[in-house]
Amino acid sequence: MSKVWFVGAGPGDPELITLKAQKLIAQADAILYAGSLVSSAATQWAKPSCVIQDSKGMTLEEITDWLILHAVEAATVIRLQTGDPGLYGALVEMVQPLDKAGIAVGVVPGVTSAMASAAAAVETLTLPEVTQTVIFSRVEGRTPMPEGESLTELGQHHCTLCLYLSITLLKKVREDLLAAGWQDESAIVVVYKASWPNEQQIIHGTLATIKEQCKQAGINSQAMIIISPALGARQWTELKKSKLYDAQFSHRFRKAIKTQE
Ligand code: SAH
Repeated sequence: MSKVWFVGAGPGDPELITLKAQKLIAQADAILYAGSLVSSAATQWAKPSCVIQDSKGMTLEEITDWLILHAVEAATVIRLQTGDPGLYGALVEMVQPLDKAGIAVGVVPGVTSAMASAAAAVETLTLPEVTQTVIFSRVEGRTPMPEGESLTELGQHHCTLCLYLSITLLKKVREDLLAAGWQDESAIVVVYKASWPNEQQIIHGTLATIKEQCKQAGINSQAMIIISPALGARQWTELKKSKLYDAQFSHRFRKAIKTQE
């Protein structure tokens, strides 16, 4: 029986593809990859007979038609997507026509660009008693935001925010976050092409400076914006340590060391 797999290719570095994805790519008869964001290196494991096509320039309907056509002829068909297919990946829009055509579907998760960006900058997205929550979102541009999800509303949590698809909207990011109570001095990091060998750029700035810094660096696409009260914690001298590693804290695998009062 043929099956169409929606496979997360990770953020760019081919070594950040999962083993499962790599095995499926090696076995695939047809691969349609999102060439604007997925490195062609991700298809390096494909067998010589595999049909490989870049979907750059194709409409959603053309993409699903292609997947259906190849699924009828071949056993393993892959739609290779950037990061994780479940984040801004039009997954459901592509799965529905396949469901209608009676074609089996599977999804392989991938390393999303927010995680690759945090890793590149050696930043933690959660820090004890600073923030314990991460929001993955975007700023309203051409795609309207559902009620209650404007950046001004989300920003009021003062937790970590990872903003996808918003690098051309830094003016609005600043305005919305100032309205949510953040400061012009609040730290912000932009990571361009996180994990792409030789192309990655990390820009450290503040709400006030980041737009100009990105302009100077020529960054206007494929970038992640991270705003967090935990940014820069690597340099802090006082940290609340995670309880998990605290000698006074018992858990399933370790008894607390008793200290004398
Ligand atoms: N499914 C993808 C997101 C697709 S939307 C994922 O999980 O990462 C495309 C947006 O993702 C871009 O506008 C950018 O904000 C972000 N992005 C994708 N790859 C990136 C990378 N290597 N570095 C930084 N941001 C990236």
